[in-house]
Amino acid sequence: MTTLEFRDVVKRYNVRGRADKLTAVNHVSFTLESGKTTALVGQSGSGKSTIAKLITQLEHPDEGAILLDGEPVRRRGAGLRDYRHNVQMVFQDPFASLNPYHSIGHHLARPLQLHGRASTRADVEQKIHELLERVRLTPAREVAAKHPHELSGGQRQRVAIARALAPEPTVLIADEPVSMLDVSIRLGVLNLLADLQRQENLGLLYITHDLATARHFSDEILVMYKGEIVERGPADDVILNPQHEYTKRLAAAAPNPELRLAQLPTNRSAAMAAGKSDRNV
Ligand code: ADP
Ligand code: MG
Repeated sequence: MTTLEFRDVVKRYNVRGRADKLTAVNHVSFTLESGKTTALVGQSGSGKSTIAKLITQLEHPDEGAILLDGEPVRRRGAGLRDYRHNVQMVFQDPFASLNPYHSIGHHLARPLQLHGRASTRADVEQKIHELLERVRLTPAREVAAKHPHELSGGQRQRVAIARALAPEPTVLIADEPVSMLDVSIRLGVLNLLADLQRQENLGLLYITHDLATARHFSDEILVMYKGEIVERGPADDVILNPQHEYTKRLAAAAPNPELRLAQLPTNRSAAMAAGKSDRNV
């Protein structure tokens, strides 16, 4: 059982032409746990990506602490490498996150080797194929030889997910993983993430501005507004009985036209019971 704790974290940015700093994350606390999906919901500019950057150590807190299994995270050396074994990220933009000059196989070989998950060439190749099959990109041998421009946005995002899984992390951060994809394939990618989360018992942080999918795919919802968590709780409670003005407004604005609540089972357990999974997208 892994826990990743964000404890009273503050992050401020310098803004040009402004004397005071902008507080992007303001005394935020929460805990991610193995086997649990937490949704972080909020409108653009509320501080969601800053939280993702702090968790993945692209940024560091000005105040507060981030703890992995109770230990403050290490910022460098072997400690940082251990941390990266455990905590991986899927970014929003599948077009920017893959290198156009490298094959898909190369993108997956790197983390496998870096994190000591495979050593011999044959071993690396086999693991690459396993990863591609897990994200349902088949035939794996053909996909591994391709370059990013030969893949659709949805396929690229599946490669990004496979790459994040390569080090065998315990915590996965997905920052608006489908917001740049065609509406028609979003649910397929989210279902894949949900299946992998269950299979690997991952602690998943699903960052989104979409309340409908937050409710459907998460156990717990954190609502972020202007750098603060203004409301939190079990997914159904937060959506069906919002307390904070901001959550009420978000809930009133949902369902969005693309992904209606009515099309979805009401919660995660219903989805699991229905064995819901879209393998063909
Ligand atoms: P979200 O992901 O919810 O859209 P962000 O975390 O990207 O929000 O941004 C939160 C706030 O912090 C915004 O006001 C944004 O302009 C600001 N911000 C983010 N990154 C930087 C940065 N590197 N320098 C200055 N301000 C930043
Ligand atoms: Mg963002």
